[in-house]
Amino acid sequence: MIGRGDCLRDVSLYFHIPFCSKKCPYCHFFVLPNDDKLKEPFLASLLKEWEMRTGQLLNRRIVSIYFGGGTPTKLNPSHYFLLLDAIRTSGIEIASDCEITLEANPEDVSFERMQEFASLGINRVSLGVQSLTEGELFLLGRSHTTHRSLSAIQEVYQAGIHNISIDLMFELPHQTLTSWLKSLHALADLPLTHLSLYNLTFEPQTVFYKKQKELLPQLPPDEERLKMLEVAVETFGALGLKRYEISAFAKPGMHSRHNTGYWTGREFLGFGPSAFSYWEGSRFSNVAHFSKYLDAIGQSRFPIDFEEKLDPMRSQKELLAIALRLVDGVDLKAFRERYGAFSSSLEQSLERIVKKGWLYRDEGNLKLTGSGQLFYDTVASEII
Ligand code: SF4
Repeated sequence: MIGRGDCLRDVSLYFHIPFCSKKCPYCHFFVLPNDDKLKEPFLASLLKEWEMRTGQLLNRRIVSIYFGGGTPTKLNPSHYFLLLDAIRTSGIEIASDCEITLEANPEDVSFERMQEFASLGINRVSLGVQSLTEGELFLLGRSHTTHRSLSAIQEVYQAGIHNISIDLMFELPHQTLTSWLKSLHALADLPLTHLSLYNLTFEPQTVFYKKQKELLPQLPPDEERLKMLEVAVETFGALGLKRYEISAFAKPGMHSRHNTGYWTGREFLGFGPSAFSYWEGSRFSNVAHFSKYLDAIGQSRFPIDFEEKLDPMRSQKELLAIALRLVDGVDLKAFRERYGAFSSSLEQSLERIVKKGWLYRDEGNLKLTGSGQLFYDTVASEII
């Protein structure tokens, strides 16, 4: 919960590893072909970018490191050895229980590979499973099968990494309650500690966006989508995965420390092309272009192409909106102590949202109601 537990010195690191074997038709992330020739210059730049930023991290404590993408498992354990070694020998404090997550695609997982990652101190794996139904995986353009996903989860576990998250997608074209239940039933008996649930969105500059006219009529109807969400929350709950954020579910004590930082205003630095940072009241992003990224680093310049100094009032509203995604809500006293008193217009907006039945107060905490979770985007835009 915001204002509790997290120390202001605490920071997170995000590394964007852009390589993918092919581009999925719904994906809007910055990705590059999985070309081995690009990897050495990329790694050298990433290491230099880390070195250029270490001065900012003196007196800070790293509590989470996240290798996301792209497909981080397109790099080898030897690459991560170099990156983690650079971080560990930089003199910056690292929490003894620092969460180190590697995003992985099921097709890149093997027991032996995961053992190597585990030996480097990677203690959490987030697998891009997306669906446990063959037809849906084909539609999503994924390279793995259901069987591969199920084996990958076991291989990660057997290799000694017991903090395992998967991503699942719903509200897909041609998906029915029956096919969704099939995916959900396949989760039984898997050693999962965390699950992130996403609905399909049509992002500009994706293949699916261009095919919207054809795909939108194939989506499940509204009532069925609601039912899908309902059965998902029930099934995850029965597996011990309790909802703690609008799209995140975890076993007790296994919340994603890294993602919780995003929801509670923890500062983070992003490395690699297209990576975002939130730092000392500003947010900025690196250029989403490979050679421009390499050139800037080569000239010892930060590869930033967008920077925004956040106005404190706007920043307070944004942090409040994002923190409300957490099921425990926002401890209003702690939030005000950290981010200042609310303006009368913010108080009025909150009252309006409470009256609509989307927010409620619970012993000093402000929380989303069930319908507030469904209409979160509207709640957030009314606050901001
Ligand atoms: S594997 Fe992930 S990052 Fe790569 S294209 Fe597919 S969705 Fe995007």
